[in-house]
Amino acid sequence: MTKTLKLYTNGEWVDSSNPSMQNILNPANQEVIAKAPKATKEETEEAIKAAKDAFESGVWSERTPLERAEVLLQIADKMEENLDALIELEVENNGKTKREAESDATDAANTFRYYAGLLNNSSGEILETDEELQTMIVKEPMGVAGLIVPWNFPLLMSVWKIAPALAAGNSIILKPAEITPMTVVKVFELMDQTDLPKDVAHLLMGSGSIVGQTITESKDVDIVSFTGSTEVGRTIMQAATGNLKKISLELGGKSPNIIFDDADLDTAVDHALFGIFMGSGQVCSSGSRILVQEGIYDEFITKYAESAKRIKVGPGNDEASEMGAIVSEKHMESILNYIQIGKEEGARLVCGGNRIERDGMDNGFFIEPTVFADVTSDMRIVQEEIFGPVVVIQKFKDEEEAIKLANDTDFGLAGGVFSRDQQKAMRVIKKVRAGITWVNTYHLTGVQAPWGGYKQSGIGRSLGTYGLDEYQETKQINISTDPKPIQWFN
Ligand code: NAP
Ligand code: MG
Repeated sequence: MTKTLKLYTNGEWVDSSNPSMQNILNPANQEVIAKAPKATKEETEEAIKAAKDAFESGVWSERTPLERAEVLLQIADKMEENLDALIELEVENNGKTKREAESDATDAANTFRYYAGLLNNSSGEILETDEELQTMIVKEPMGVAGLIVPWNFPLLMSVWKIAPALAAGNSIILKPAEITPMTVVKVFELMDQTDLPKDVAHLLMGSGSIVGQTITESKDVDIVSFTGSTEVGRTIMQAATGNLKKISLELGGKSPNIIFDDADLDTAVDHALFGIFMGSGQVCSSGSRILVQEGIYDEFITKYAESAKRIKVGPGNDEASEMGAIVSEKHMESILNYIQIGKEEGARLVCGGNRIERDGMDNGFFIEPTVFADVTSDMRIVQEEIFGPVVVIQKFKDEEEAIKLANDTDFGLAGGVFSRDQQKAMRVIKKVRAGITWVNTYHLTGVQAPWGGYKQSGIGRSLGTYGLDEYQETKQINISTDPKPIQWFN
């Protein structure tokens, strides 16, 4: 029987008054795995009101850091006890492989542990501002945090927001992407089993244009933390102007991966493959533009294409699958359309390019690992985020041209450099205008490091101490060490 999901608000699982439901599909076979409610504007406003009341009551916002840390650790424990269920749900709903989902679920639990650790070490500053004045700098929660999440990492992106927002003492309203609510519903079920006060965290499924827009426009929401496309990010920025709420935007990318002649070729090929085909390319930081120096250009392409053709595509729940499904039919069509555009623009299709409808993938949304070469910067497939298993390879002559091509984009999320010359690699990576970068590796990072983009890839940073700062206000408290009249007047 298909599961019917409910909204979670004030510690209760409730139906929406809206009778229309969203079918939640398994993209590997199009089976309906659940039906999800679509919250109305009024229901969203009520949840925001409840979150605000909870904040003002102090039930969470005024707990000590140690008390909040204890609850975050309870959530981490619950997630670890339910790791298999979380992995299974993520595979089923998003289409990714088991290995990918396992990595996400483990990282998600660790994110709660990390922020609990930060709270255990939280401290402020005291400044000697004047002879008779001491200034305390304290961090305080902001109020109600609206958290809007995309479909590519439904679990991990939710937790990257929930953990620091709660750590800071905020109340939260979370809206998952309409098509991928399964794992975050599970997370809320688990949070419900901890000592987190019941009215602090609210989960609203529904559309971006209703639930998302209502959260973003609300005068009672103090920060919106959004991860998604640059296009919707722009809408969020505009909608947030009413009460000048803080915005934190993690947006798209078209990240360069620069391979020099003197790179270890096998390492470069391997990481450049991982850089784009992990998550079927539906990863914001994907190295979707490979720039290769002319001396190894042909050899690189030959080796790269051989490896790309060997990637085993298949349903995520099959242990043998190395690359899973595309999240939805609509998104698959968008990727296939870009492949068509690439052909029309005159890029050379080296391998892939087709939907796969055989070997157990007959009813799912699968696309071959696709490699285009001989591309130029004016092509749409070089400038626009395809967000699928499609990579473009471009040739460069020297260091200067590599940097120029790398930065010839409106995005600035990530980038990589491969070279055995450490000094050159450092020179180049420092010139790449992006927030997340790698030298002789790709994608690897940790919860301690700030995550976010330059240029049109976003505003603000997630994770690390920076991620906690996003959800905090900073207050100065000036204390006289010698109270007496100042005698400015009279
Ligand atoms: P999206 O279309 O921008 O949607 C993201 C979220 O925003 C969804 O929950 C969506 O709801 C909601 N939304 C849509 N319109 C809205 C509106 N007017 N007001 C408020 N919320 C609204 O992105 P996506 O297609 O889900 O995800 C892919 C994108 O996310 C890619 O561009 C990728 O690069 C980016 N991304 C960035 C990072 C990062 O860390 N920088 C990480 C992951 C993904 P519905 O879709 O349910 O209607
Ligand atoms: Mg969308």
